[in-house]
Amino acid sequence: MNCNKFSTCRLEKDYETPRCNRAKLDTGTFCNYDCEFCYYQGDLDKVTSFDVIKDRIDILHKYGITEVDLSGGESSVHKQWFDILDYCNERFDHISTLSNGWAFAREDFLVKSKEHGLKEILFSVHGYDEGSHDDIVRRRGGWKKILKAIELAHKHDIIVRINCTVYQRNYEGLLKYHDIIKDLKPLEVNFLTLNYWTNNRHADPIDYVKVTDSIKVCIDNIKDHVKYINVRYTPYCYMKGYEKYVCDQFQHIYDKYDWNVEIYSLDIDVSRQYSEHEKIDMAYDTATIRRMKDYKKPSECLSCKYLYICDGVENEVKQFIPLPVEGKKITNVNYYRKGFYDC
Ligand code: SF4
Repeated sequence: MNCNKFSTCRLEKDYETPRCNRAKLDTGTFCNYDCEFCYYQGDLDKVTSFDVIKDRIDILHKYGITEVDLSGGESSVHKQWFDILDYCNERFDHISTLSNGWAFAREDFLVKSKEHGLKEILFSVHGYDEGSHDDIVRRRGGWKKILKAIELAHKHDIIVRINCTVYQRNYEGLLKYHDIIKDLKPLEVNFLTLNYWTNNRHADPIDYVKVTDSIKVCIDNIKDHVKYINVRYTPYCYMKGYEKYVCDQFQHIYDKYDWNVEIYSLDIDVSRQYSEHEKIDMAYDTATIRRMKDYKKPSECLSCKYLYICDGVENEVKQFIPLPVEGKKITNVNYYRKGFYDC
């Protein structure tokens, strides 16, 4: 039995909290790294043309997106990186990019990117030292480059955030991860429990108990040093006492530094304007479809107070023991995250 068939019906829509108006700009899967868990294995040599990227930018702009997050692959190694920045800079208030740090370890490249409009970089730091990080990204020198890039970003007033994908290979390393996070001083850290969205099925299955125990220890160690911490796509019952950090599909709608939900597929009629109310409705529709399609909750979840706000686990997860918490059912998706970005 999958309780997700009806676990969105009593969710209250939050029309008060500002929704995320930053969109992913997909610049294609081309990358100079080969991370072990990459979602795009097999496509890392495929280049997306600037014309295709411009079409994507135009759709986002017409929809009313104000901020973009350039994401590949590795957007900064696209041959027309500066043309992409220029095209975005004419249309959006804020440009961010995800990065492995390789290109930004060169000061001239980072400074020129800033001159072309780049304001923020979300760095992928998956290990706590050279060996652990380079083994995962499968690129020698990756650790040194990313540390240099982060140092330069701070020097030139580029906002620094950090993503850490957590899975069987690196969860134990999180017990040592806090030292490097304190040194790197990011505005935000996102822990992403590995998901199965595209081509990364070769990675070992996640043991949620071990992975979330390590994440919680790390949160305890960094919470006084990092302004915003998110744990994405993780069952609430494994984050008891840490619920405010959980960002599942419906909380994601309000995650202001991440990706807008309803425009993600670019499959929206942008020949007309949408009200804020309509955009939130569309975001909830999209989150509902994703939850129904990709996630499951076993019947034990019916007694759990998190039933409505929690996604459960992805369908591909073979072994999952839910830990339902009895109590009055929570129906507000932002129950634990009221004012999360106000401070
Ligand atoms: S028991 Fe089920 S509904 Fe409750 S938090 Fe865990 S996975 Fe989610």
